[in-house]
Amino acid sequence: MGLTVLMNAGPWLPVPPPGYGGIENVVATLVPELRRLGVRVVLASTADATLPVDELLSVFPDGQFGALQRPYNQVCGISHAHLNGVVRALRERDDIDLVHDHVEAVGLAVLTAMGPGSGPALHTLHWDLGKHPDLYGYLDGGDRVRVNGVSAAQLARAPQALRDHAVGHVHLATPLAVAADRRPPVEKSDHLVILGRITPGKGQHVGARLAHQAGFDLVLAGPVGPYLRPEELAAAGPEADQNPDVRYWREQVAPLVDGDRVRWVGMVAGGARDELVAAARASLFPLCWEEPGGTAVIESLALGTPVLAIGRGCLPELIEHGRTGLLAEDEEGLADLVREVGRLDERDCRREASRRFTPATMAQRYVELYDRVRRSATRPVDPYPVDPSVDPSPVRA
Ligand code: UDP
Repeated sequence: MGLTVLMNAGPWLPVPPPGYGGIENVVATLVPELRRLGVRVVLASTADATLPVDELLSVFPDGQFGALQRPYNQVCGISHAHLNGVVRALRERDDIDLVHDHVEAVGLAVLTAMGPGSGPALHTLHWDLGKHPDLYGYLDGGDRVRVNGVSAAQLARAPQALRDHAVGHVHLATPLAVAADRRPPVEKSDHLVILGRITPGKGQHVGARLAHQAGFDLVLAGPVGPYLRPEELAAAGPEADQNPDVRYWREQVAPLVDGDRVRWVGMVAGGARDELVAAARASLFPLCWEEPGGTAVIESLALGTPVLAIGRGCLPELIEHGRTGLLAEDEEGLADLVREVGRLDERDCRREASRRFTPATMAQRYVELYDRVRRSATRPVDPYPVDPSVDPSPVRA
């Protein structure tokens, strides 16, 4: 009998997500390959998830992402309600060999708190590990709850207690990498592209400034907070400014978007996204944060588009400077490299993607980690040990 994994994708978006959805996309990329390797997958997502799995568990009928615009005290129960459903399933059934969890902070906290009553768990850290220092700094999951990063650079920034639980990192993958080395090249246009959420860390303001200074055409593609299209954002009232990404857009990016040298096309999906990136001379990542995993980076390689980036976070792990991209230390260095990007061979990008970033490679690595986590989960820690001198019957008035 093969391994059964409860894959917890969380309550925010169905799997696969209809458009933007980093974590849900990773799950959608990983699960088919795991199943091909003989793993039975019980997916915990929302009821409208359409990914083929062996079983779907859900608490919410559909993705709760829209609720995230409301104040914290109105939405903080959503991931807990979802986890409640997961915990109930783990308590009621005995066929789950391992939980692979992707729910930020709450997933890790709940699985740790479950104690030895639940089996081994692997929690994938998809985000910046400078976050949640109070949780990560004091984590104690015993030998039962383990974590993995999505890059070595990301884990290197984690607090020691979190790193003590780590079983390594697994780079992200994209279905676009499958046979990318055998696809014919796409004719390039003259533009550069920044694909990603419009948010300070991704540095769209830096990219737009460079485009004006260095004189290249730049297309910005991605949502601004919950607004997917320019018309939607234009129609939004002043309350939209409560969202920090909307404020970033209005204050720092929009003044540089002239519709000519720099354009914003909103969120692009599917074939339109691939065409936009494949036709670009380069993908620009003028990063202002330590990029943890960089899905858009490996997608660009798979589409035969070299990467021009500030080499922060995972970028030096994903990009070979001078072959698949050019990495600068800062904005000034990036400006110098724009002219050189034409000398990179797009075939090298596609070859690298098909060698390193396919879903099959990622799934193989996760199966190895599942095995490691299960084998090391021999000494469970009980955070609430039972005191035999205490009468367990309920107290009656
Ligand atoms: N994305 C997309 N359309 C957009 C902008 C982004 O489909 O308009 C996708 C992009 O292709 C990638 C994901 O969103 O798959 C972003 O993941 P990444 O790890 O690059 O950034 P994150 O937002 O998770 O920090």
